[in-house]
Order: sequence, then structure tokens, then C-alpha cells
Amino acid sequence: MLDSRVIRDLERQVDVPHVYTRAADLAAYAYDAWGASGERHLPDAVVFPASTEEVAGVVEVCAHYRVPVVPRGAGTGYAAGAAPWQGGVVLSVARMNRILGIEADALRLRAEAGVVTAAIHRRAAQAGLFYPPDPGSATTSTIGGNVACNAAGPHALRYGTTADFVVGATAVLADGRVVRVGEGGDAGDDPLLALLSASEGTLAVITEVSVRLLPAPAARATLAATFTSIDSAAGAVAEIAGSGIVPAALEFLDAGALDAVRRAGGTTLGADGEALLIVEVEGDSQAVAGGADTVMTAATAAGASSTERAADAADAARLWAARKAVSAAVAKVMIGKVNEDVVVPRDRMAELVGFTTDLGHHHGLPVVNFGHLGDGNLHATFLIDPRVPGQRARADKAAGDLFETVLGMGGSLSGEHGVGQAKLAYVERQLGPAGVELMWRIKAAYDPLGILNPGKKLPQRSSSSASSSEPAKSVSSTTAASSRPSGSMSTDRS
Ligand SMILES: Cc1cc2nc3c(=O)[nH]c(=O)nc-3n(C[C@H](O)[C@H](O)[C@H](O)COP(=O)(O)OP(=O)(O)OC[C@H]3O[C@@H](n4cnc5c(N)ncnc54)[C@H](O)[C@@H]3O)c2cc1C
Repeated sequence: MLDSRVIRDLERQVDVPHVYTRAADLAAYAYDAWGASGERHLPDAVVFPASTEEVAGVVEVCAHYRVPVVPRGAGTGYAAGAAPWQGGVVLSVARMNRILGIEADALRLRAEAGVVTAAIHRRAAQAGLFYPPDPGSATTSTIGGNVACNAAGPHALRYGTTADFVVGATAVLADGRVVRVGEGGDAGDDPLLALLSASEGTLAVITEVSVRLLPAPAARATLAATFTSIDSAAGAVAEIAGSGIVPAALEFLDAGALDAVRRAGGTTLGADGEALLIVEVEGDSQAVAGGADTVMTAATAAGASSTERAADAADAARLWAARKAVSAAVAKVMIGKVNEDVVVPRDRMAELVGFTTDLGHHHGLPVVNFGHLGDGNLHATFLIDPRVPGQRARADKAAGDLFETVLGMGGSLSGEHGVGQAKLAYVERQLGPAGVELMWRIKAAYDPLGILNPGKKLPQRSSSSASSSEPAKSVSSTTAASSRPSGSMSTDRS
């Protein structure tokens, strides 16, 4: 429980109706993405500021009382990043949902952090423009959350991730001061802007974002191909890559993923093979026609059992349906999942899919694989029933084995979902002690009290490397110290 003085001061910042403290209201903010990570931790309060100034006021109150602040967009993250591990205040940007302006000539759009990604897609399209980052959660996730996780999506293959499109941001620092970063040009021009990308709420609260837009592509072709083996699907990908064209998207579902979509009532193009590829080609009409032919030829040469090309936009949506539905379908057919988001060099994807399937057999768990084959990003998902004793522990063990193998292949723990709380144990293995120490120094510079999303992104340092930049002890009844508070609802992973 928070000291009543903290609640009183928060209510002064955002008005009484915008501070939740009842247990029934808090429960919905204890987890993210259906609680897929298994992490559920009750906050002590949830606040809903409506402006940068109100965010600054809330953060200032929390800094004064040394209370953790957990920024929250739509709560679609898969890594428990928005779950308040140490209790404290969840700061939701849900009321900050206005598109502040679009400058069509300058190819820029400015939005509050709580604007849903798909609203940016729609607003850009109305102006004949295009915002490429397209996470599968786009109809729900927020632009602030996308920046905080550096969200990607199918279009990342050709265009890049959120970080490649963010040109400016307004953010509230851990002491309540407001900074405006970027705006001058590419994100790479401003290291302060670049640091916000993928900071997962640990460095600042993002309140406004400016993104770069592109002219909408003149033409687009959507194609789908099914294969009787993962190896032949991988062969098609190698052929496409070797042809020199860069598709806008190159997505993949394995037999387990197709089965989950079917069982959840979705359509899978009648595919009963081992793999479905969905490929999108964009550009001027001549380039698209040539690219589509190249993809069809590559798929056929690699042994595709069927190929389809969308006749129009509605038909393209039909081809995309299985891919768009797969995440939710997996959650529907099995009540729990341990959903990983690993990256390996593209030419090792078939090997990795085979490895995860074997891992599932070894640990007695069904496995579903899907993802962005074009850039080597695999969503390897172990299905569990968390009510069955030991299943989550087995899935966590399988995930650990997966991470070790991925790092051994020269890959990475996360392509897009972030570290959050769920992948903390493996960060040092990837970055090494010096990399972790550097992250802590940056954290200490931004957040010397350690109140911003504590326990996320940065693994605990060994006591020998910990220094004066460790979080200060709280003076309130909820602490920013390292022990797990009584608000924890799940101990599955701990
Ligand atoms: C069905 C489904 C499909 C998905 N597909 C994709 C995909 O294709 N690609 C992809 O990259 N991800 C995907 N995701 C994961 C997720 O949607 C993204 O990580 C997304 O960017 C999270 O946005 P959010 O607004 O929900 O953030 P949240 O889940 O609320 O927060 C995520 C992290 O960002 C921080 N954060 C949120 N808002 C702010 C802010 N304003 N300031 C500072 N920190 C903040 C939080 O503290 C937390 O650490 C998917 C998730 C689901 C459920």
C-alpha cells in the first residue's frame, strides 16, 4: 500500500477520477499480453495523466516519495515490461491519444504517446502517405510503447523498425523535468533520441513522438506459397534473397502455427503442409510485376506445393489472415504460452525451427513457430497449461536451451519484443559484464534514484560491480529496492 500522502499528491496532479487504487481496478494493470509471460504483480496505484505537464507532475511526486513508476502504453508487450514487478505507480498514457499534426510536405506526423499505431497508419494513408512499422499488435499497441520496445513487424525487412522512423520525442525524466530530443533529421543524429529507443520505460516517460512518413507505394503484390518441408520453404527464401529483390514482407508459419489458426476457427488457405510463406512486394508497378514473378518462380523452384497471388486488396487480406491471426489463435487454443522472439542469421532459420521442434518433444510441450523469416526473427512458442504443475518450469527450461543455442548461432535474444522482466537472466550472456555495466551507467545518469521501471531490461549487477548508482532506498511504504514486494501475484519464473 502506498502512503496516503502519495495518493493525495497524485490526485492533485491528475484529478481524483484518474487515480485508481481499488484492487479490482488495479488487477488489469498487473500483467501484459494476456499474462503470457506468467508475470503478474499488482501496482499500488494506476494514474492516467492527460498531458506532458501532468506526466511531469506525477513523476515528480513519485521521485519525491521514491516510488517506482512503470510507464504503460496498451500493455501488449510480451516480456512483462509493463508489469509492475515492485509495485508502485503504473503511469498509463491511455488518455494521451491525440494526433497532434501531420505535415504532408515535410513527411512528418506528431502524436501523443498513447496514440494507437493503426491510427497513425490511417492518418498517414488519408494524406497519401505511409508509416511502415507494422507490429502485429498495431490495432492496439501505442506509438510510445513501440518506441520504448523498438517495435518491428513484417515491413521491417524492407523499411526498418520503429527507431528508423522516429525523428523526435518529448519525454519526462526521472526527476520530472521535460526534454525534447531529435526533430533535426535522422534518429542517428541525436544520441539522446536513439537512447530512448528500446529503453523499455527505464530511462524516461515518452509523452510525444514525431515520426517520418514515406510516400505510399504505387503498387503492391501479395503472394502466398505452401511447402511440404521447412527446408524447401527456406530454399525459397534463399532464392528470393539471391534474386536481388527486397520484399516488403516475408513471413512464415509452421505446421503447428497453421494448426492453431485452424483450431481457433481461422482460415489457412487450405494449407496442410509444413510451412506457409507470405510475401509482399512493393514499389512502382513495373518493379512489383517483376518482383512478384521472381517470388513465384523461386517458390516453385524450391518445391512449393501451392502458390497464390492476391487479385486485389481484399484478396491480399485473405492471404494475410492466417499470419495476422496466429498470435491470438495460439492464446486461444492453449491457455498459456512461453513466447520467445529470437533472431538468427537468416540462413540458419530452418535449422532453428528444427531445433525448437526437437526441444518441444524433449520437454513434452507442443511448439508453434512463426515470424519474420526475411530478417531471421522467429517467434518460437511453447504451449503450456499453467495449471499443470511443472509445465511453465519445463517451458522456461526449453526457452533457456533455446537462448543458449541462438546465442551460439550468433543470434540475439529479442528481435522486437524487448527484454522486460522475462529475458533478464540472459542479457549478460549476450552483452557480457562490460556491456551490462555500461547499461547501468546510462541508467544511473538518467535515473539516479532507480524509480523508472525498476527490475526491467537491466540484469542485477554482481555486488562487486554495483556502485553508488544503485537505486536509493524508498521512504514510502512501497520501495524501489530490489526485493520482490507482497503485491506479487505470480512466482512462476522467480
Ligand atoms: C498479438 C500481438 C502481436 C504482436 N506483434 C508484434 C510485432 O509484430 N512486432 C513487435 O515488435 N511487437 C509485437 N508485439 C509486442 C508488442 O505489441 C510491442 O512490443 C509494442 O510495441 C508494445 O506497445 P504497448 O503500447 O502495448 O506497450 P506496453 O506493453 O504497455 O509497454 C511495453 C514496454 O514499453 C514501456 N512503455 C510503454 N509506453 C511507454 C512510454 N510512453 N514511455 C516510456 N516507456 C513506455 C513499458 O514500460 C514497457 O516496458 C505483439 C504483441 C501482441 C499481443
